[in-house]
Amino acid sequence: MTKRSVTSDDELVLLPLGGAGEIGMNFNAYGFGPPDERKWIVVDCGVLFGREATTPGVDVIMPDIQYLIERREDVLAIVATHAHEDHIGAIHLLWPALRCPVYATPFTAKLIEGKLEEAGLRDRVRVNVVPLSGKLKLGPFDIEFISITHSIPEPNALAIRTKLGTVVHTGDWKLDPDPLIGEATDGSALQKLGDDGVLALVCDSTNALVEGHSGSEATVREALANLIGTLKGRVAVTAFASNVARLDSIAKAARTHGRQIALVGRAMHKIVAAARATGYLDDFPNVLDVEEAAELPPRRVLYLCTGSQGEVRAALSRIAEGNHPNVSLGPGDAVIFSSRIIPGNDLQIFALHNKLAGLGVEILSAEDHFVHVSGHPARDELAQMYRWTRPKIAVPVHGELRHMSAHARLAKSLQVPQAVVLENGHMLRLAPGKAEVIDETPAGRVHLDGQVLVSEGAGLSRARRSLSFAGMIAITLVIDSKGRVAADPAFVMEGIPEPVHLAVREAVEGAIRRHNPKREDEGKLREIVRRAARGAADDAWGKKPVTRVEIVLI
Ligand SMILES: [Zn+2]
Repeated sequence: MTKRSVTSDDELVLLPLGGAGEIGMNFNAYGFGPPDERKWIVVDCGVLFGREATTPGVDVIMPDIQYLIERREDVLAIVATHAHEDHIGAIHLLWPALRCPVYATPFTAKLIEGKLEEAGLRDRVRVNVVPLSGKLKLGPFDIEFISITHSIPEPNALAIRTKLGTVVHTGDWKLDPDPLIGEATDGSALQKLGDDGVLALVCDSTNALVEGHSGSEATVREALANLIGTLKGRVAVTAFASNVARLDSIAKAARTHGRQIALVGRAMHKIVAAARATGYLDDFPNVLDVEEAAELPPRRVLYLCTGSQGEVRAALSRIAEGNHPNVSLGPGDAVIFSSRIIPGNDLQIFALHNKLAGLGVEILSAEDHFVHVSGHPARDELAQMYRWTRPKIAVPVHGELRHMSAHARLAKSLQVPQAVVLENGHMLRLAPGKAEVIDETPAGRVHLDGQVLVSEGAGLSRARRSLSFAGMIAITLVIDSKGRVAADPAFVMEGIPEPVHLAVREAVEGAIRRHNPKREDEGKLREIVRRAARGAADDAWGKKPVTRVEIVLI
């Protein structure tokens, strides 16, 4: 096979469909070739978690990838940088639409396989395991995995080499000289990429507004051990289950202070199993069942719990509610939140704090104790990455607009010739000195609503928010063959205060009495009645409920 040389029509493009302008649902497509026959690879395929306030009843949100579905034959692979949900959480949901092979390092692959198994797709999807520092050729893309540090085992940056230049896609990262688990960041590999020439650096922006350095897991290990040593009653520690180094630190601190550990929450068991299966946590202590742990004296037990973000169905919330069958906490006990507050989760986290405080439990969190470091690069670390790679183009991703803009300004201040703040759906042609947006594809979202994937555009969340704000009125009218209202209207009012009911009934009955069936059709009657009901509710209550009028013809 002759190697096709680069033609004048060839372009290298980046199309983020998720993760640009938001922290979550990372999905970056790289395309190479002439505009009408590009080959694509997808880097990461993650979810964003739904929020009760904005997307009630929606568990997870993912990008709308219709653009790539239409080019499915040319999508060569999904390559995962690491195993966080916002990078792999949508693979099992979107794979059926793309049906391409998946590539990941061993720990990440293990967790992806677990998800595919649960989705009944394990036999259909090829998950190719790439060794650490491994290389991969996918059509016009030569990909090298570069070990980096983050807050999960096996985070990777990708060097994506093409005939039109090399892109360094960092994934999520920080510079931790002592990550406790796994490799330290391969600075020499990044330096070498810089020496060879980097066209674009596509880089994590999460902490672009934070001065200094994110700090090391090793310092948290020490601080946690000291803190746990001061506690006398039962101790529960909550952290992101995926932060295996943190779990290990907590387990070691427990052992140092004569406590045995029990894992509480499904994700804890899943991650510990995946970590052990891929060669991590070799000296993790024996874990007790929660039933056994309940028999121990309080000062001999430590519970490692899910639910650091106040998730209502997670272990810690259930314990705080007194709903956990085997774990209970009370006066003299303590809960350590070894995690940060993800913006937007503060209300539910503080509600959880309040429930625990109500039980007499002491709360120790990053607000007043050193129990957490971020897994994302602060400004000094970003500057180091630019010094290593020296790209011609900086493309901040993985951040809200404010993070990405600050990141772009930082890159410019570090003499990067061009920094581009992208939006989801904007296709950026990567070319030295003249990177530009050449196309705008629709960038929507898809909700996993119960077990059904629904386009955000279907408006279900908006409808549910309206229902939760002002309830619902349903009115049924019976109309005879001459268009006359033939019976008293029937009302159903949900979530509406009693005094408003009467006002609505009177207004609707008045509107029906004034209605002249000879001149007005059924549709008009429906609208007259709907307006009368909403207007009356607004006058009596100051709110307009969702109102439906059904007509039954006899
Ligand atoms: Zn991550």
